[in-house]
Amino acid sequence: MNIHEYQGKEILSKFGVRIQRGIVAETPEQAVLAYKEIATMTNSKFAVVKSQIHAGGRGKGKIVGTEQRGVQLAKSAEDVKTIAGNLLKNVLVTHQTGEEGKVVNKILIAEDAYYPGDSEPKEFYMSILLDRNKACNVIMASTEGGMDIEEVAEHSPEKIIKEWIDPRVGLQGFQARKVAAKLGLSGTANKEMVKFIFSLYKAYEETDSSMFEINPVLKTSDDKILAVDAKVNLDDNALFRHKDLLELRDKAEEDPMEVEASDNDLNYVKLDGNVGCMVNGAGLAMATMDIIKLYGGEPANFLDVGGGANAQTVEAGFRIILKDPNVKAIFVNIFGGIVRCDRVATGIVEAYKSIGEIHVPIVVRLQGTNAEEGASIINASGLKVFSAVKLKDAAELVKQVLA
Ligand code: GDP
Ligand code: MN
Repeated sequence: MNIHEYQGKEILSKFGVRIQRGIVAETPEQAVLAYKEIATMTNSKFAVVKSQIHAGGRGKGKIVGTEQRGVQLAKSAEDVKTIAGNLLKNVLVTHQTGEEGKVVNKILIAEDAYYPGDSEPKEFYMSILLDRNKACNVIMASTEGGMDIEEVAEHSPEKIIKEWIDPRVGLQGFQARKVAAKLGLSGTANKEMVKFIFSLYKAYEETDSSMFEINPVLKTSDDKILAVDAKVNLDDNALFRHKDLLELRDKAEEDPMEVEASDNDLNYVKLDGNVGCMVNGAGLAMATMDIIKLYGGEPANFLDVGGGANAQTVEAGFRIILKDPNVKAIFVNIFGGIVRCDRVATGIVEAYKSIGEIHVPIVVRLQGTNAEEGASIINASGLKVFSAVKLKDAAELVKQVLA
């Protein structure tokens, strides 16, 4: 689960990581009040207004049809009001949002962490994430802060520092000092960076996150080290033990169909093709997508209805798939292991009846327990459903109905 920058910073702050302070606002009026509070707190007229969307690249991104950037510096309450008006309720497009962009529903009014006149503010990159190949967490850091890390990785990979953490002993002092030294820091700045790394690591571990990315980490001229940005990904599988974090979910940022699917305990990922897939089991779903592609089609989605598929889950699955206007055919591929094929077939027939007219052809492949009973239920229903026994025949059928 992704969360907003301001929420990520709140978590960091709780774990003792120094952050660029800010107050979140949803209207220009709230933004002005927030600005006044920040200005009093910092005794400065400068503040930054930052669009809160679940995507990075906001600094360079623009509001659709304008030259308005997603992150802007303000020098007065008037400025804040104008900028807030330009950002809120509008669509921000960054290199991470895709061209459809994301609506800005919230903005963060943050202190200007870059002191005016500071001759050498230094921006670093730092992230902690799981290295699946090495089966341990890794700290990644770079002197090239503020830039896209993918770009740094491509053009100057030697500038990326990596420190792997042995899960048996956890983060060690020498490792944090090594990272700080490799970032070229000595004296107070080095000590501050070591503290920063330890607090960041604690935040990452104790929230069961799969990624914490701070870009930029700022070093001010008086050697403070602080998080200016925070991109956090919480591990969905661990959320059951973090009820407080679960509340940070912002459904407005998620694909509405994926939200509907997760409300129905379905595992759905929208893709760009035209063949809707309904499958039980992630492995079979992947194999189904592969075979669709092999036969020249493009899957419109990944949908795992889980082991306990019944009439309701099948219906919910159909509804979600049919909401995608790109879908030109549906391929139902169910292996009856725990779930019996006759139950799934009944589910398909009932879903068909309850949704009403389904205008796209449906190819159904039921295999395993009670497959024959399942096939006869479908055949007896009189619905326009194509049945196939072999996977390749089913894929061939999909190809034919699309042609
Ligand atoms: P991103 O573009 O989505 O990664 O958003 P960031 O939070 O990283 O902000 C984008 C850029 O805005 C940063 O790389 C900084 O250069 C700039 N920025 C952020 N906060 C401040 C600030 O307090 N003062 C100034 N002058 N610039 C800032
Ligand atoms: Mn950033």
